[in-house]
Amino acid sequence: MKQPLSNRVEQVAPSPTLFITAKAKKMKQEGIDVIGLGAGEPDFNTPENIIQAAYRSMEEGHTKYTPSSGIKELKDAISEKLKRDQSLDYSEEQIFVGTGAKHVLYSAFQAIINPGDEVIIPVPYWVTYPEQVKLAGGVPVFVETGFDQDFKILPADFEKAITAKTKAIVLNSPNNPTGMSYSSDELKALGELAVQHDLYMISDEIYEKLYYGDKSDLVSVASFGPEFYERTIVVNGVSKAYAMTGWRIGYAAGPRPVIAAMGKLADHMTSNPSVSAQYAALEAYTGSQEVPEKMYQAFEERMERFYPQLEKIPGFKPKKPDGAFYFFIEAKEAAKQKGFHSVDAFAEALLNQALVAVIPGSGFGMPDYIRLSYATDPDLFQTALNRIQDFMMK
Ligand code: PMP
Ligand code: GLU
Repeated sequence: MKQPLSNRVEQVAPSPTLFITAKAKKMKQEGIDVIGLGAGEPDFNTPENIIQAAYRSMEEGHTKYTPSSGIKELKDAISEKLKRDQSLDYSEEQIFVGTGAKHVLYSAFQAIINPGDEVIIPVPYWVTYPEQVKLAGGVPVFVETGFDQDFKILPADFEKAITAKTKAIVLNSPNNPTGMSYSSDELKALGELAVQHDLYMISDEIYEKLYYGDKSDLVSVASFGPEFYERTIVVNGVSKAYAMTGWRIGYAAGPRPVIAAMGKLADHMTSNPSVSAQYAALEAYTGSQEVPEKMYQAFEERMERFYPQLEKIPGFKPKKPDGAFYFFIEAKEAAKQKGFHSVDAFAEALLNQALVAVIPGSGFGMPDYIRLSYATDPDLFQTALNRIQDFMMK
């Protein structure tokens, strides 16, 4: 018997970032010496003070259900963080803590999207946004950008895409997969259009701490005034900033009704995110920032070390990132030089022949590109680059 599945689930594509990462891991287990530059996850272990805080919380008896949207202490710490880093005021009722930023984004789309509502997503995008919009019954509307505009959406293109059905825009800065970051003026111009057309802004700020420029230049779109604040859902979490991808803690800060709706969903979907992970996140936000800051420094150093090498690989056209830990590279020419009809096929050959796993840009809506994550041990990253270089010269 053919097991019927829901239309909802049938229309969703698997995550290419997770798929390729899993494939590389499997090849490794089979004894193949693959280097994975796929997953965007810090290679560092979670800082020791955070691990200890989780142990302590368990020993102190924090092993039971908590409110679905998170413990008050963590919400207070997030509120202080938003005030300290972004001059944003959020009360406890305006904060939702979920099982990673991915679950938080999912809940946000579920909370605001009605069937047929359109959500504007600049291209390239993180693989998960369009699928989550579809799962909420919405329609992703893609707006193209390009290398020469630093992969940033232009206000005129944003405005052209707005229809009577548009409900929201997704902004992600610093960006996955490009590492690009919007300046305050650029962000404000986009925010003004959202205000004018009465749209929500989903501001995914998960790479906020991994911005290499002057920290005072990095602002949240919610901070430009009340009319911006009241329609923005800020999304962030501990995965990238504190090397805590496996702990699964993310949060949203936004309008009370939206946050309350997300809490109601969690009541019936996940209940609270793991309580020990919540205590660990509390330590991340309130404890010493010395170790995380060393990690941010290390990512920037790797970027500076490897970017010039990428520029020298035949057929590679990389863009220098402002933050995050990804190189987004136009590889159309490289694919052609090696006789491949697509960059997808080239990426597959890199995996099977050069033994380097990269994510093809098709997953991010730009099929001429590849993404390399340098949240990878630098010696391994160097070896991977040498392999790619050799592969191109062969
Ligand atoms: N947003 C972006 C842009 C990401 O790259 C990621 C990484 N997975 C997430 C959200 C989700 O992060 P997490 O669920 O680990 O908090
Ligand atoms: N966000 C990371 C990435 O893009 C982790 C994998 C995922 O959840 O997509 O690689």
